Amino acid sequence: MRYEFTAEEEQFRAELVEWIDELDDDYKGLSEAGSDDDWAKSLEVRRMLADKGWLTLHWPVEYGGQGASMMKQVIFTEEMVYHSIPGRDGFGTRMLAPTLMVHGTEEQRKEYLPPIARGDVQWCQGYSEPDSGSDLASLQMRAVDDGDHYVVTGSKIWTSQAHRADHIFFLVRTDPDAPKHRGISFLLSETNVPGIRIEPIINMAGHHQFNQVFFDEVRVPKANLVGEENRGWYVAATLLDFERSGIDYPAQAQRALDELIAYAKGMKGVTGLPLSEDPDTRRRLVDLQIQVDSTRGVAYEVADMQGRGEIPNKEASMAKTLGTRLVQDVHRFGVDLLGMYGQLRPGSYLSQLDGRMLDAQLGTVAYTIFAGTTEIQKNIIATRGLGLPRG
Ligand SMILES: Cc1cc2nc3c(=O)[nH]c(=O)nc-3n(C[C@H](O)[C@H](O)[C@H](O)COP(=O)(O)OP(=O)(O)OC[C@H]3O[C@@H](n4cnc5c(N)ncnc54)[C@H](O)[C@@H]3O)c2cc1C
Repeated sequence: MRYEFTAEEEQFRAELVEWIDELDDDYKGLSEAGSDDDWAKSLEVRRMLADKGWLTLHWPVEYGGQGASMMKQVIFTEEMVYHSIPGRDGFGTRMLAPTLMVHGTEEQRKEYLPPIARGDVQWCQGYSEPDSGSDLASLQMRAVDDGDHYVVTGSKIWTSQAHRADHIFFLVRTDPDAPKHRGISFLLSETNVPGIRIEPIINMAGHHQFNQVFFDEVRVPKANLVGEENRGWYVAATLLDFERSGIDYPAQAQRALDELIAYAKGMKGVTGLPLSEDPDTRRRLVDLQIQVDSTRGVAYEVADMQGRGEIPNKEASMAKTLGTRLVQDVHRFGVDLLGMYGQLRPGSYLSQLDGRMLDAQLGTVAYTIFAGTTEIQKNIIATRGLGLPRG
């Protein structure tokens, strides 16, 4: 399938790319899981995006957004990811804010939406627990009623960016006797309050991206309950719908592939000819480009459905399954193509492409785990897509 963008969408893409071209190089290629300095620069870009109105591109106009089409939002994400520009705010603008628009009280919207729109706050997501991941509804973190407050005890794990976050949205069990989906509530808290302790977890690429967050009798005002008590599962599910789109993956893969094609054209192999003239290398590059194009097509389809008010489910699972495997495949091939140089980390004086292929190969192992593992996505495709019986 081929997607035609409207003239307005093409114009937006051109404006965005021009802005990116003019952005200081210091801001490009930064990882938000990087140093404190990188993070500070990411926040500067976030505020620039807020000033342009692009941070809240997809928010309805009544909440101060641009009311942009899904396709415009897709173009934004695609170009930002392709050009490795930091500053987007997945947890605040993309997940929590639209959820508060649906389930929050007027007071909660007034309190929480403006700082998110200005790029002034960082949220994190406390869903997973040490014994609850794919089967999220089995979560055990307990919130006990204490008048105007809940008293929360337990722990959350794999909490991305918790060490940078000033706020957390999270799920707790408010009724331990109810069936598991019916005793869950959705709460908001600042992270810098008595009883919350954040411990780093370092991933195998050596980066500090996620954490374990311990709650020890943390007092959370009842005004911070989103939706009804014990009905938090539905709030959580709404939020997860906003989490899925899938265009990030082919955009990231395209960027890496373009770098590898340029490398193959410039680097001579053992035959003395450029690697790009080696038939096997050419075939692999073409295969990967086809994979990128078809995965991008699925992501556009997901966005197109959302734009028409339909709720993609098997399509979103396809976009995630194909996209995450694609990103892994491209970087694995990249490490192979670089030969012995492929084993060098960023910063090594002999590394090629600044060691990004190995760093990304290690970092993207997580892609088929977070936001619903590949096995869970395949279960969805099997049951809702192919109509197969539950296993
Ligand atoms: C980089 C990264 C960032 C993350 N960030 C966050 C975050 O910010 N906030 C947050 O709350 N969580 C976060 N997570 C956690 C993530 O959501 C969970 O890791 C994920 O849901 C899987 O849960 P689990 O790790 O407990 O694995 P499990 O659910 O224990 O799964 C273990 C294995 O069993 C398979 N499996 C499980 N159930 C089934 C089934 N029914 N059928 C077939 N196979 C099955 C899984 O696919 C997996 O291979 C993050 C994870 C990663 C890797």
